[in-house]
Amino acid sequence: MAKRDYYDVLGVQRNAAEAEIKKAYRKLARQYHPDVNPGNQEAEEKFKEINEAYEVLSEPGKRQRYDQFGHAGTDPNGFGGFGGFEGGTAGDFGGFGDIFEMFFGGGAASARQRGPQQGADLRLDLELSFEEAAFGVEKDLEIPRLENCPTCHGSGAKPGTSASSCSKCQGTGEVRYTQKTALGHFQTIKTCPQCGGTGKMISTPCPECQGRGHVKRKRKLKIKVPAGVDTGSRIRLSGEGEAGLRGGPPGDVYVYLKVRPHQIFERRGDDIYMEFPVTFVQAALGDEVQVPTLQGKAALKIPEGTQTHTVLRLRGQGIPHLYGSGRGDQYVKIVMITPTKLNEEQKQRLRDFAGSTNKENYRSKGKGKDKGLWEKVRDSLKGMGE
Ligand SMILES: [Zn+2]
Ligand SMILES: [Zn+2]
Repeated sequence: MAKRDYYDVLGVQRNAAEAEIKKAYRKLARQYHPDVNPGNQEAEEKFKEINEAYEVLSEPGKRQRYDQFGHAGTDPNGFGGFGGFEGGTAGDFGGFGDIFEMFFGGGAASARQRGPQQGADLRLDLELSFEEAAFGVEKDLEIPRLENCPTCHGSGAKPGTSASSCSKCQGTGEVRYTQKTALGHFQTIKTCPQCGGTGKMISTPCPECQGRGHVKRKRKLKIKVPAGVDTGSRIRLSGEGEAGLRGGPPGDVYVYLKVRPHQIFERRGDDIYMEFPVTFVQAALGDEVQVPTLQGKAALKIPEGTQTHTVLRLRGQGIPHLYGSGRGDQYVKIVMITPTKLNEEQKQRLRDFAGSTNKENYRSKGKGKDKGLWEKVRDSLKGMGE
């Protein structure tokens, strides 16, 4: 039986990119996988054919030979190929799932290891004061990270020398193990253990990085923290992570922010809350007081007859909005402080004062059904027969 053209088998153009070939292969392999087509001889044949085509077209060297010499170029001694194997049963192998796993898992990992690889992302935790988070700040950071070795520029070879092709994998970075199965010879592709997938052997390692190509460095960076951030906010420093491998791009740095609590302010979203103590006299007569704000102080009018726990608002004295303009508000909860250590004269004056008040002085301002606390408790006592 004449072999079909590998490009036709995968349904791709002769100039198809590597990724395109891989994509076509995966799609077809899933479609014709024996697990999906149990007992279907035609699907099995097709699956073999697809794997064989991909085996050749996915490897630049083999693909080139195939382009030049056709099928004859891809069948050298030592490479068993998929076509000729007969005999055995599927049971010998313990199911096709293993093959599937091996093929996709191993192949993908190998491709990942061989090609350019992006450097690792790094995480950094940064603690800010309440005010720094509110108004933004510039901070100096020190990031320990792997950088390309400045002496060998990442090659790992001592300057003046160069790396040679790995003898075990001939520079491909991967080794293949052939396994006999009912469907033919399957090949597992693994990262070359000798060169770790780089395809290169360094005979004279760079003295600075000992051949690794990377050195640990502390990178100093300035970071601009915008106004309005909060605990849990994250800042990404693009490209400031670890150096990439084999020409891959560097990773990123993620700075996680944590905001220290404030002595008197509590933050809820972009609003801030605080409690402010006033005397019984201030609450009863009203007053104008100075309350602390994030940036200094502000005048606050306590209206006459203010009850304890009344919350007053200072507009626009909160946290600047992280996105967009404007600021949150500051809420001031009035807390009435009871005087202590009164002398006898003060006590007598209070008794006199108490004697001069009546129900009306303590009636709540609540209208209609909205009774004040005083009325509610009094009604409750009446209900119990008091
Ligand atoms: Zn070096
Ligand atoms: Zn190798």
